[in-house]
Amino acid sequence: MSFLDRGARDWLLLELLSGMALTFRYMFKPKVTINYPYEKGPLSPRFRGEHALRRYPNDEERCIACKLCEAICPAQAITIEAEPREDGSRRTRRYDIDMTKCIYCGFCQESCPVDAIVEGANFEFAAETRAELMYDKAKLLANGERWEPELAARIAADAPYR
Ligand code: SF4
Ligand code: SF4
Repeated sequence: MSFLDRGARDWLLLELLSGMALTFRYMFKPKVTINYPYEKGPLSPRFRGEHALRRYPNDEERCIACKLCEAICPAQAITIEAEPREDGSRRTRRYDIDMTKCIYCGFCQESCPVDAIVEGANFEFAAETRAELMYDKAKLLANGERWEPELAARIAADAPYR
């Protein structure tokens, strides 16, 4: 572009006018942004968020303490201690996940034969201290109770592809 052309464009404010035209063109188009956290975008049923331990509808814990999730966890974030109950069933006494070690690979939920440990859709669990991210069994079961309808719906939606 010659010096005269550039001068004419500057003098006529052509760059400014083309920028304004672009702004006006997008002003009337549907918005692509959302008002997070009041609005949220869609999430895949396979999204791997915060962990939860689920129960059966009769309130019994699903986990049978087989320790497959502990064995497969590549980050060694899961610690399980098990003991037999009076009725002979095997259940966990301790089920801890160190969420600061977890890499959200999903291997624990893939390995679980009874869909007990799952990763839900919740990704808003940032904490201020490291201690808050040391999840114990009570915290994981509470997560399961809180999110059960969503967890069951996600598992049902993904079932045809597993
Ligand atoms: S998601 Fe992966 S890293 Fe995290 S607890 Fe499960 S197996 Fe371990
Ligand atoms: S959560 Fe599942 S894989 Fe892990 S110990 Fe319990 S039953 Fe086994």
